[in-house]
Amino acid sequence: MIDFRTIRSRITAQDAAKFYGAEFDRRGWALCPFHGDSHPSISFKNGRFRCWSCGASGDALDYTARLFDLDSVQAAHKLDADFGLGLSSGCNNSAEAQQKEDHRKAIAAAHQRFETWREQAMNKLNEIFRIAHTALKRLPEPLSERECLALRYQARAEYLSGVLEDGTPEEQAQLYRERKEMEKWTEQILKGS
Ligand SMILES: [Zn+2]
Repeated sequence: MIDFRTIRSRITAQDAAKFYGAEFDRRGWALCPFHGDSHPSISFKNGRFRCWSCGASGDALDYTARLFDLDSVQAAHKLDADFGLGLSSGCNNSAEAQQKEDHRKAIAAAHQRFETWREQAMNKLNEIFRIAHTALKRLPEPLSERECLALRYQARAEYLSGVLEDGTPEEQAQLYRERKEMEKWTEQILKGS
C-alpha cells in the first residue's frame, strides 16, 4: 500500500502543477486547469493549492487526481511513478535505473576489452603462422630460435586461432581468462620480429 503521507511530504501541489504543465505567472500563481482560467487564479501555500475562482483546493494528490480523473490511490501511484519515488516497488526507480545503466556500461566495456584483445591475439597468431610457414620452406637450412618456437607452437596456434574465430562464447571466455599462457609464448616468438 502506498503511503499518502510520504507522497505529500515529497511532492507539493506546486511540484505536481509544474510537472503536469501548469503555466505560472511571476507571482507563482498558476492557470487553473479545473475551470476556464485565462488569468492565473491558483495560489500555493504549504504544499497545497487553492483556486480563488472556482474554489478547487487540496494537495498534490488532490491536484493530480482531479487533473487525470483518478482516485487518490491511482493518483498516488501516478505521482510515485512520474517523480521516480519508488514507493510502490520498494526501491528508488532512479537509483535502480542508474544501477542498470552502470551494469550495462560495465558489460559493454568488458566486451570491448575482449574484442580488442581478440583482434590483437588473432594478429599475433597470424604472424606466428607466417613465421612458421617461412621456416618450413627454408628447411633443411638451420632455423633461428624463434622459427623453431613458431614451428613448435604452430598446432597450438592453429587451435587457438580456431577458437578465437569460431569458438563458443564459453570457449573464448576461457581462453581470455587463460590468456597469460598464450601471451607468454606469442611474445617469445614475436619479440624478435
Ligand atoms: Zn479554478
